[in-house]
This record gives sequence, C-alpha cells and structure tokens, in this order.
Amino acid sequence: MAFHPYQIAVSNVVDREAAIHELKGVIKLVNRTWERRAEIEPSHDERRRPQPMDVYKLLPQTNCKACGQPTCFVFAAKLTLGQVELPACPVLREPQYAERLAQLEDMLGGDLPAVGPREE
Ligand code: SF4
Repeated sequence: MAFHPYQIAVSNVVDREAAIHELKGVIKLVNRTWERRAEIEPSHDERRRPQPMDVYKLLPQTNCKACGQPTCFVFAAKLTLGQVELPACPVLREPQYAERLAQLEDMLGGDLPAVGPREE
C-alpha cells in the first residue's frame, strides 16, 4: 500500500473488493491514530528514498520491456520516485525471483510520496 498526495495505491490483492477491504482497515488505523495523537511520540528519524542502482540490482535485468519501460534501470528509477509499482514487472512474479521481490517490497516500503506524475 502506497500513500501519495491524492491517492492510495494498493497492490498484491486478489481483486478490487480486497483492495477496498484493505483501504477500510487503513482508514480505521489513520482515524484511531488521529484520535490518540496526544499519546504518540513522533519519530524524527530520516527516511531516505532507495537509490535506483540498489533497486536495479534486485530486478531481473532482462530489459524485456514487459513493464512498459525501455530498460530495467528506467523501471528502477521510476520505482524510486513512486511513478510505477512493482506489480508492473511480471517477471518478478516468477518463482525464482520471490526472494528479490520480498527484498524490493521491503526496500520500497510504500510510505514515500510519489515524485512527479504516476504512470498507469
Ligand atoms: S518487466 Fe521487469 S524484467 Fe522486464 S524490463 Fe521491466 S523491470 Fe525489467
């Protein structure tokens, strides 16, 4: 799940209903957090965007263009800017990339706002 200035993106769900269910859960969490804001100690730890080369190293590096990008590195760069999402790369769903996909999901985390226009 990724929060962007004017939208929330949900991935890795089976269908629209599952996405709506996940979103409702997040809305409840946000509202509960707001209600308890006086009890919460803010964290001022700096979060850095992953660098494109770090993301690229975990991609399949086939440059197959199935994601709509000319190369895996372009896809990596757009991932770090929140302009595309991991599910756009179908190759990552192949079993041999399961560990890399998990690493990418962890690295990209989904809590950094998109920079520039998002691609559909
Ligand atoms: S679909 Fe995946 S493997 Fe193919 S070019 Fe895009 S990022 Fe690379």
